[in-house]
Amino acid sequence: MDSLDAFCATKLADLDAKSLRRKLQPTIRTQGAHVQRGGRTLVSFSCNDYLGLATDPRVKAAAIQAIQTYGAGAAGSRLVTGAHPLLDDLEAELARLKGKPATLVFGSGYLANIGITPALAGPGDLVILDQRSHACMWAGAQLSGARVLSFRHNDLEHLGNLLAQERGTGRVVILTERVFSMDGDRAPVAELLALAARHDAWLLVDDAHGLGVIEADAAAPLEMGTLSKALGSYGGYLCASEPVVDLLRSRARSFVYTTALPPASAGAALESLRILRAEPDRQRRPLALAQRFTSRMGLPTAQSAIVPVIVGEAAAALALSAGLEDKGFLVAAIRPPTVTAGTARLRIAFSAAHTEAEVDGLVEALAHCLVRAGLRPEVQPA
Ligand SMILES: *Cc1c(COP(=O)(O)O)cnc(C)c1O
Repeated sequence: MDSLDAFCATKLADLDAKSLRRKLQPTIRTQGAHVQRGGRTLVSFSCNDYLGLATDPRVKAAAIQAIQTYGAGAAGSRLVTGAHPLLDDLEAELARLKGKPATLVFGSGYLANIGITPALAGPGDLVILDQRSHACMWAGAQLSGARVLSFRHNDLEHLGNLLAQERGTGRVVILTERVFSMDGDRAPVAELLALAARHDAWLLVDDAHGLGVIEADAAAPLEMGTLSKALGSYGGYLCASEPVVDLLRSRARSFVYTTALPPASAGAALESLRILRAEPDRQRRPLALAQRFTSRMGLPTAQSAIVPVIVGEAAAALALSAGLEDKGFLVAAIRPPTVTAGTARLRIAFSAAHTEAEVDGLVEALAHCLVRAGLRPEVQPA
């Protein structure tokens, strides 16, 4: 074996030993919350398709129409030849939805986060993030070359102390998520805004799991998110003031040096935004179903469409997930390094596409698996 393959084989053996090796599992999303895996149909509680729009016939038709009109790919950076008209429409709609003067669409949420922070902060500046921020917010912070600090999860006092002691004279960007992707809890955005204002710091809120599901209590000057979750498409965005968006259009490297979002993704997202406006009840359903689940399981009331069931060790989370799959439910186990060591969990994501009966079915199945694992869930009647 040459040194390259030997290096990888050693690393893989180490991951295997820790139950941390990742495997791909071919998955076909059919309709609503149903997926096919290994020849079986499962009810998925792991998709981020919170409003069931990824397989909505109207959204699919809009994507097909966009391809017919503008082609399969954008064929260039937005700044060169990739600026097809659907992108302007999409930016206008997102700005309207978020109540912001301007929007910049990126190729994905990940690309948005690794482009925004480095365009606003650099060496001599400070980036402070909630310690549970998504990997791409950390990546953006590190790429910026600024000093990077983190504050304890949702701990305003800790953040306040860091700002008081470490602020310096440079620019300061604070990063957090409106809804935390692995815990489902929310950031105190209004309080963070007040704190940021006192220290002339700029707040960026990642709304990946909030848009379309949670009523935003307060808007940060920098509101980013993804088209790939509640909107059922693909792509990322930043909603902000005109000067911010104008600067990023010229300076965000993950916008400038990459191909524009394909027409199909823009067309699908536009149709999803239209459905969002036309069907407000759809947006209330994921949270209502999540709360039905937490109340039946005796868990703290869900604050979003995401509910974690924390079990500790990676192997235990994998065993629970396998047990649920036997019973017809797809619930992914989330392991380190996605979450902190010792907090491996099931991450349950509720969607407007789920029925009440499917949620109740999950309650019964999970209770059964927990008992088998030696735990004592306190299940409440429906
Ligand atoms: C999914 C996610 C992203 C990345 O969005 P993509 O469009 O999938 O790249 C960014 N931030 C958070 C919090 C996410 O959950």
